[in-house]
Amino acid sequence: MEVNPNHAPATVTLEYSPMTGEVRFPQAVWEQLRATLLADLSRETKCFVLCRTLESSGRVVFLAREVVPVPDEAYAQRSASLVETRPEFVHALLVRCAREGYALLEAHTHPWTTLPRFSGVDDRSDLQKFQTTQPMSPPFRHGSLVFGCDMSFEGRFWDYTREAMATITRLQVLEVPPRTLYGADCQPPDWARTALAVYDRQVRAFGLEGQAMLSHLRVAVVGAGGLGSQIANALALLGVGHLLLIDPDRLELSNLNRVVGASYAQAVRGWRKVRALAQRLNRARPPERRTVAPLPLDVRTREALAHLLSCDLIVGAVDSAVARQYLNTVAMCALIPYLDAGVGVRSENGRLAQGGGQVQVVIPGATACLACTERGIRQSVEEQLTPHQRELSIRGGYIQGEAIPNPQVVFLNGVVGNLLVWELVKLATHCAPVQPYIYYDLLGQHVFPARAERNPNCLLCASHPDSLLGQGLYGLMGYLAPRRAPKSKPIPTPRGG
Ligand SMILES: [Zn+2]
Repeated sequence: MEVNPNHAPATVTLEYSPMTGEVRFPQAVWEQLRATLLADLSRETKCFVLCRTLESSGRVVFLAREVVPVPDEAYAQRSASLVETRPEFVHALLVRCAREGYALLEAHTHPWTTLPRFSGVDDRSDLQKFQTTQPMSPPFRHGSLVFGCDMSFEGRFWDYTREAMATITRLQVLEVPPRTLYGADCQPPDWARTALAVYDRQVRAFGLEGQAMLSHLRVAVVGAGGLGSQIANALALLGVGHLLLIDPDRLELSNLNRVVGASYAQAVRGWRKVRALAQRLNRARPPERRTVAPLPLDVRTREALAHLLSCDLIVGAVDSAVARQYLNTVAMCALIPYLDAGVGVRSENGRLAQGGGQVQVVIPGATACLACTERGIRQSVEEQLTPHQRELSIRGGYIQGEAIPNPQVVFLNGVVGNLLVWELVKLATHCAPVQPYIYYDLLGQHVFPARAERNPNCLLCASHPDSLLGQGLYGLMGYLAPRRAPKSKPIPTPRGG
């Protein structure tokens, strides 16, 4: 370990809170941070990151929105071993945070090391700064990051309740594929614990590290119909750590041709789809991994949102365009990767005239979101179809729109669902390049990628200041269903998918 001899020894004893923090960076914000901090490695550099926050018990997620570099004139001191900004510069930022609802992360470099740790000087100055802003309360949060010359880091933020430091354990960089950086004082996932006999053949495919990444994922699968149940089934078998199944619908006899995990008796009794599925999937897992949770909730309720926000990845297998766009919006606001799948089949006089499906991988700020691709993808897919297929596609309108409720066939769900699962495995394990958009043509039996170009003016995912990217709950309030539920609940309507 390299040590800067100019640093004074630590003289402050810090109390640490059990809370933990995480910072999520859209690709553009991360690149700006990196360029700012590493521009001059001959001396320490400082900048500030304005963030939204998502808070749950014991955990704060910082959503990085904007990097504010420190201009030369705003440095009070700057050398190879010391950096300090003028108080009036920081004060102006604090005023902006209070006015606009931002949290503030201070970031500086220790450019001489690849194992950055807070120095004694940092301990003293951070404690003073955090005590100064103690009267400000959430959504304001005050934190500090120190980076080495390779962007390895150590991080902490202030826990107002306990008046103590809390650790920022990891940074998520939303590139393709997303990258997780663990703090110098934090351990990456425990790989040895994932070496269960159950996953032996997969460890041989993805390696121990890849299997560990899957084992520590928390994934929400929204929609437990024909498509969602196929996806959940594969994710459960793969050993994904926590699976949350979200769908309010009940089983019906007409579901039994395609919904995985449902029994005839459950369909007759009208069990919730998620309950039947979770029971079946948990039984196939080792006792300590029975972590498939059924959540019979409408996805647009606050309760469902809290579950979605707790996840590392969101999978959408829904048959409604509104639900699909909502999930896309949640993913953009909370900076959570989103994988969307849809299928459709059209029959004419007992013959399958057309069928297929698509999988889209949305990494907020790095790949096109659903709002970007609505028009572009349709065009790109149609360019690759024969004139007859294109004509059918236009008439059927199934490529990006709402899935046609009938007919529904299990083999199409199986193909498209597993195309999505494969992309999810790539995102988690980095074992192969991610394909952001895939189209499957059922009649031609071929799978092909389509162009998925980002719309630079997209209201949801573009880098401009008004987009919803990383806006947290600020961006979501208008999208939630009204808090009060209707008094009498109608009998659940059947749904496909
Ligand atoms: Zn977009």
